[in-house]
Amino acid sequence: MLVFKFGGASVKDAAGIINLAKVVGNYKNEQLLIVVSAMGKTTNALEDLTKAYVNQADDLHAIYERIKQYHFEIMSELFEANHPVFDEVANTFVEIDWMIEDEPHDDFDFTYDQIVSVGELVSTRIVAAYLNHEGLKSQWLDVRGYIHTDNTYREGMVQWDKTRESIQLSIPALLEHNFVVTQGFLGGTSENFTTTLGREGSDYTASIFAACLGAESVTTWKDVPGILNADPKLFNDTVKFDELTYTEAIEMTYYGATVIHPKTIKPLQNSRIPLLVKPFGNPDAPGTVIKETASTVFEKPVIIIKQKQVLLSIATKDYSFISEDHLSDIFGRFAKNHVKINVMQTSALSFSVCFDLKDERFETLLKDLNKDYKTKYNNDLTLLTVRHYSTGNIKELTIGKTVLLEQISRNTAQLVLK
Ligand code: ASP
Ligand code: MG
Repeated sequence: MLVFKFGGASVKDAAGIINLAKVVGNYKNEQLLIVVSAMGKTTNALEDLTKAYVNQADDLHAIYERIKQYHFEIMSELFEANHPVFDEVANTFVEIDWMIEDEPHDDFDFTYDQIVSVGELVSTRIVAAYLNHEGLKSQWLDVRGYIHTDNTYREGMVQWDKTRESIQLSIPALLEHNFVVTQGFLGGTSENFTTTLGREGSDYTASIFAACLGAESVTTWKDVPGILNADPKLFNDTVKFDELTYTEAIEMTYYGATVIHPKTIKPLQNSRIPLLVKPFGNPDAPGTVIKETASTVFEKPVIIIKQKQVLLSIATKDYSFISEDHLSDIFGRFAKNHVKINVMQTSALSFSVCFDLKDERFETLLKDLNKDYKTKYNNDLTLLTVRHYSTGNIKELTIGKTVLLEQISRNTAQLVLK
C-alpha cells in the first residue's frame, strides 16, 4: 500500500482539488491512504481566529466568516448545490460556533487545538466528497480515533503502541475496497479531545500511518520539484537533489528546512520506507527520493534560513560564572516553557541561546528567567545554516550583515545574523 500526503498549497482552490483527483486517478489499482492538510492558509487564519476569540477581539466574527466563505466558494465550484458535502462542512464548522459562544478556556493551547483542527476536518470532507464525485471510491476517516496522543496540546506526543494497534486493526480492511482520506496534523487524547502535532505536522501523520501499515512508500506532493538545496523563494540558482539519505534529510529538517516536518523521517527510517517528495503539478516527474542509501554529491551547499529569531543572553545576577547547575536549571526552564533551542553558546559569564520567536512562549520564558537571572535579547534576527559549506559560501552569504554568533563544525556552519 501507498501513503500520499497533500499539503495546504496543493488544495488551496478548486483547481488544486481537481488536480489532486487527477493524481489519485493514476493509482486506481493501488491501496492508497491519503493524508490532507488544511486548505491554503486556513491554519494561519484559524490561528488568528483563536487569538481573536481568546482576546474577545472585535473582528472575531469577521475572521470566522471569511474562513467559512473561502471553503463554501470552493465547494460551489466543485459540487452541485444540493450535494451533501455542504451540510457536512457546515456541521463541522458548528463545533467552532459552539466554542466561540462560551467564555474562553484558560488553557490557550487547548483552545487552539479545538479550533485550528477544524481546518483539516473540513478539507478532508471536501476532498473525500470530490474523489467520490469523480468515481474514485473514498472513505473519510476521523484520524482522532487512530492517532492517539497525550494531552500536550499543540505538540501532541504520539502514543505509538495504542496508535499502531488502532491503525492495524481496521485500516487494512478499509483499504481493500476504498481509498482512505484522513486529516494530517491531528490526534486525539484518551478523553476524546483533539490535539495537533505541531505546525506542518501532516507529513508526520503520513509517516505514522506508513510505519504502522508497512507501506511501500510515502509520497508528499508539493509545489516544488523536489528537495532543493535552498528555498527558491529566497535564492534563484537552486538545484534539486535526486536522492538524499535519511540522515541528511533529518539534519536538514533539524536545522529548519521546512520542506518536510522534522519528525517525519525517523519512523520511516526505522521501517526502511522511502519518502518521495514530488511536484503535484507534474506527477510523472521523479522528485526527490529519501532512502537509506543515496549517493549525493553536494555541488552546492544546503542553505537553510530561519527568520524571526531571538538571541537571548542569560547571566547570573551576581555576575558569577555560569556553572553546570545554572545550565541545568536554564535548560529546565526552556523545556518547561516549550521553547526549543536552535543554537547556543556559553562563555564565562553568560549563556547565549537562539530560538524562534513565538510571542506568548517567549514572554512566559522571559518572566520565568528574570526571576533569577539577568537577561538581554535581540530579536528579528536570522539564523543561517549552511551544510557542506566552503569558506567562500559563508563570505558570500553574510555580505553586509552583522554576525552576532557563529558556530562552525566540519559539515555545518551556523550564524546568527542581523
Ligand atoms: N495545516 C497544518 C499547518 O499548516 C499542518 C500541515 O499543513 O502540515 O501547519
Ligand atoms: Mg502546510
